Amino acid sequence: VATASLLFGLAACSSTRGSSSSSSSSIEKGATIGISMPTKSMERWNKDGRNLKTKLEKAGYKVILSYADDKPSQQNSDIENMVNNNAKVIVVAAKDGTSVGPAVEKAHESGAKVIAYDRLIMNTKAVDYYATFQLEQVGTLQARYIIDKLGLEKGATGPFNIEVFTGSPDDNNAKYFFKGAWDLLQPYFKSGVLRSISKHGGGVDGNFSVDKWQSISVMSWKTAQTQTDMESILDSSYAHGEKLDAVLTPNDDLAQGVINAIQTKRPDMKPGTDSWPVITGQDANEIAISNIHQDLQSMTVFKDVAKLADAVYTMVVEIAQGKEVSGINSQMDNGVIQVPSKLLDPLTLDKNNLDEVVKSGFIPESRFKELT
Ligand code: BGC
Repeated sequence: VATASLLFGLAACSSTRGSSSSSSSSIEKGATIGISMPTKSMERWNKDGRNLKTKLEKAGYKVILSYADDKPSQQNSDIENMVNNNAKVIVVAAKDGTSVGPAVEKAHESGAKVIAYDRLIMNTKAVDYYATFQLEQVGTLQARYIIDKLGLEKGATGPFNIEVFTGSPDDNNAKYFFKGAWDLLQPYFKSGVLRSISKHGGGVDGNFSVDKWQSISVMSWKTAQTQTDMESILDSSYAHGEKLDAVLTPNDDLAQGVINAIQTKRPDMKPGTDSWPVITGQDANEIAISNIHQDLQSMTVFKDVAKLADAVYTMVVEIAQGKEVSGINSQMDNGVIQVPSKLLDPLTLDKNNLDEVVKSGFIPESRFKELT
C-alpha cells in the first residue's frame, strides 16, 4: 500500500497527468528528493551532499539539499520545507538522531519515504531505510591498529599510557564506534597493560562501560573543543615528561585537536619517533591524509562516501520505481523499530596504503600530491 501510494504520489505530482504517452519514468524523474545534511563545517558532509545531489540530478530528479548548521531546530525546518515542496523521498543525516522525529513524522504523513543517511534516526517509526558503514567495525579497526602498533598481541606488557575520546554525545554512531573499540581494548585495561592516567571524563579504567561513553565525548565533534580537552589532559597528567603511547580518537576532526594540543603542550614529542603517540581517526579527510603523510596521525578509517551515495541513490531509484529495496544486509534497532539497513565496509588507511584514496577516486591524484 505504501508503495502504491508513493507511486500515486509521483504520478499526481506530474502536472499533465494522463496527457501524454510520457512514461512513468519521466514522472519519477521530475520528482523532488530532499537531502538534509547536518553541517557544512565538516569536510565529509559537503562531499556526501555533493555526491548524492549530483547523482540524483543526473538521473533527472529535482534535489533540495540543505545543511542545518549543526542545529536540530534548523534541521527540522529544513525537512519541513522539503515536505512543503512535495519531496517524495527525504534523505536525512541527522545532527541529533533523537531530535528529527517530529519532522520525519510529518514527512511520513505526507507520504514521503525517509532514508536515514549515515546516522540512524531514533525513537520513531517514520524511518524506512538506513544506509551507513559497519559502525562497530570502525572502532574495531581503530583499536586493532593501536593493539598492533603497541605489540600487545605479541606480549608487550607496557604499561602503556593511552587517552580515550568518543564522538558527539548526540550522535548515535559515536556509541557504536566506541563499542567496537572498547570491546577490544577493555581486556588490556583490565590486565593493566593499558592505562589512562588522566581523570578525563571521570577516569577510564578496566571497569569503564560502553554506556558511559558520553562522559568522554566531544560535542559536535569539534576540533577546538578536543584541543582544549587534550591540553587539560596534558597539563594535568603529562606535564613532567610522561610518555603518551596512544590516543583513541574516533575521527579525523578529533585527531586534529589532539595533534594541535600535543604540538602546543609537548614540543618534545616528535612525529615519526617513539615519543609520538599512535593517533587514530576516521573519514580520510584531506587534512588527515596530510597528517598521516607527516606521521602526525597514524591511521584513518576510510569510508568511501561515494559508495554510500551510490547505495542511497539505488535505494531512492528502487523506491521511486516501486521496487523492493535491494542489498539490505542488516536490521538496526532505533529504539522503536528494526530499520532495514545497508551496511558498507570501512577500510584502514595508513602510510602504507594512503593512495587507496586516489585509486578509489575519493581524492584526485593532483590533490593527493599536494597533500603528501
Ligand atoms: C560519521 C563520521 C563523522 C562524524 C562527524 C559521524 O556520524 O559517521 O563519519 O566523522 O559523524 O562528522
